Amino acid sequence: MSISAFEAFLKSIKPHSLFDSNITSHDFIALDLSIHNTELEAINVSSSDDLEQFIWSYMKSNNAKIAYGGYLEKRGIYQRSNYFNQTNSDTERNIHLGLDLWIEAGTPIFAPLPGTIHSFKNNTNYGDYGPTIVLKHHIEEFEFYTLYGHLSLESIEDLEVGVEVNQGEQIATLGTAEINGDYPPHLHFQIIKDIQDFRGDYPGVSNQLDLAFYKDNCPDPNLLLKLY
Ligand SMILES: [Zn+2]
Repeated sequence: MSISAFEAFLKSIKPHSLFDSNITSHDFIALDLSIHNTELEAINVSSSDDLEQFIWSYMKSNNAKIAYGGYLEKRGIYQRSNYFNQTNSDTERNIHLGLDLWIEAGTPIFAPLPGTIHSFKNNTNYGDYGPTIVLKHHIEEFEFYTLYGHLSLESIEDLEVGVEVNQGEQIATLGTAEINGDYPPHLHFQIIKDIQDFRGDYPGVSNQLDLAFYKDNCPDPNLLLKLY
């Protein structure tokens, strides 16, 4: 498949890490939360405690500090929430559009690219993002957005739309399950070409019917992050 000019651009630029310098490339381990991972059959993925225990022990046994994955992953974990659930398999939203990075609550998050604060919001539906920040970027001829979901409440206090953010500046800390939509702590990172009319929010999970649109509008975050 040919790669678009925007995707080639994402591949060509060097981001700042989302995390501080204590975390290096050796600390990352890939995590499969798809319906194809048979290890998940033994646990109740609707329980954030059970899922957290599964992820933490997986990281521990792999000597990792961060587990990552999820772009275009078809997941069973959204079935617990009406916010995602629909009546038939074409319209049920269960295909993940961002990259998730699982690490403990309170972890500082840094801007991978220079930009401005586009918007922020606490998305409080069950299974939603909780506190979320969207940055707007204009680099070379490309204008696009990056979304940071499942943050702490403090992250969106005292924020102002339009304020400049430097590359590598701390923008947030990760939230706990109590405020992040009831998930084990993790960052949801998503690249968005056209954010439409969304503010502090954008769909992070698609159904099968809309997938072609979202796949194009939200390219693989790893083109930018280069974790794997
Ligand atoms: Zn996510």
